[in-house]
Amino acid sequence: MAKQRGKLIVISGPSGAGKSTVVSKALEGRSDVCFSVSVTTRKPRPNEVDGKAYFFVDLDRFREMVENDELLEHAEYVANSYGTPRAYVEKKLDEGMNVLLDIEVQGARQVHEKMPDAVMIFIIPPSMEILEQRLRGRGTDSERKIEARLIRAKQEYAEADFYDYIIINDDADKAAAEFSAIITAENCKYELRKNILSEV
Ligand code: 5GP
Repeated sequence: MAKQRGKLIVISGPSGAGKSTVVSKALEGRSDVCFSVSVTTRKPRPNEVDGKAYFFVDLDRFREMVENDELLEHAEYVANSYGTPRAYVEKKLDEGMNVLLDIEVQGARQVHEKMPDAVMIFIIPPSMEILEQRLRGRGTDSERKIEARLIRAKQEYAEADFYDYIIINDDADKAAAEFSAIITAENCKYELRKNILSEV
């Protein structure tokens, strides 16, 4: 049977929505999904390792990557630049892996326009109050940064009309189960599998 091309899965949602917890729970025991590691000009947080959380680069290197068309999408978020290296994504999709991008809404819109087959998932906390509590609880950002992230979250909600799915993260296990179910269902789509009909 011919190998099925992987699906590009985009997950967005305000920083503090609990995305990384939900995603890591959902991917436990799933070997059919890999993460794309983004490049950013943001400074690493204490627990972040270069090449795992992000590739941390300076603005000159970031601009060079944009000029060389090395990024599938890129955007600014709260005064830092972020982007998705294109080569890794294409290689993994060709190998049949589902590739997961955790990116903000402007970048997600670029992906949606360039690759209309990408699965677009928006994840939110149950309320803005809870988002604020989570951002403060994390203790990694200054008051000014927290305010900026809350304002940006509200803008993102208003711009999120092109997503296919919304997950409300009021319970991380439930949200992870929903996320995993979406990936599974998307891989069963007729368009992806119709070639099999003539092979079996
Ligand atoms: P953080 O600084 O909290 O790690 O990420 C801030 C925001 O940038 C998050 O919403 C995250 O999803 C987004 N982000 C991370 N990597 C990328 C990327 O490669 N492209 C875009 N457009 N956004 C990204």
